[in-house]
Amino acid sequence: RKIIIAIDGYSACGKSSTAKMVAARMGYAYIDTGAMYRAVTLYFKENHVQITNEKEVEKALNEIQITFRHNDKNNQNETYLNGLNVENEIRKMYISEQVSEVSALPQVRHAMVAQQQRMGKKRGIVMDGRDIGTMVFPDAELKIFMEADMQVRAVRRQQELLEKKQMVNLEDIVKNLEHRDHLDTTRKESPLVRAQDAYLLDSSYITLEEQVEIVVNMAVS
Ligand code: C5P
Repeated sequence: RKIIIAIDGYSACGKSSTAKMVAARMGYAYIDTGAMYRAVTLYFKENHVQITNEKEVEKALNEIQITFRHNDKNNQNETYLNGLNVENEIRKMYISEQVSEVSALPQVRHAMVAQQQRMGKKRGIVMDGRDIGTMVFPDAELKIFMEADMQVRAVRRQQELLEKKQMVNLEDIVKNLEHRDHLDTTRKESPLVRAQDAYLLDSSYITLEEQVEIVVNMAVS
């Protein structure tokens, strides 16, 4: 029987790398909900949407269509905003710096959660984010909550950015991660919190392969 695997946790703890590989191993679909909030943020920036103006936000949300498409060349799912591939753009620092403000807006969350729940109708998915086990799929059969030491997180994120030819110093990355942790855990609308029935996975001192192994073993047992 196919299940829903919810992977939540702080930024840059290895959620998406783990989720991607678990999905591949199990033949499941992988959905990156952070990419959706990032795409919304990009749209808001490009269209100068005032996030304090509910009417503007509502109008913008009605104009936004986010989809994922598989790229056969690199075997990755890529994010599309209104038909345009924005996969590269949404990973940049200027988006990381705004995304937690945008994702704290109740209107934005309602729209994204509704879409994520529709995507989950087809069982056999791994979804990663901040509120998957608590809000999107409170009944998910397997919930994982990932954390890691700040230094480890920052170094990993720096490495990822470097692979995309973006040079960001470690201090700025730490600042950004702390900023997002703070906003994500203190926002009013479904703050980041570990679901009571989520399995805690600290990725500081284990490899990606080990993380994947742990999750897959739990999924099949
Ligand atoms: O996962 P990623 O770090 O790409 O997510 C970017 C931001 O989107 C997070 O810092 C958080 O503010 C927001 N987010 C969220 N709920 C989710 C996924 C992401 O609020 N389910």
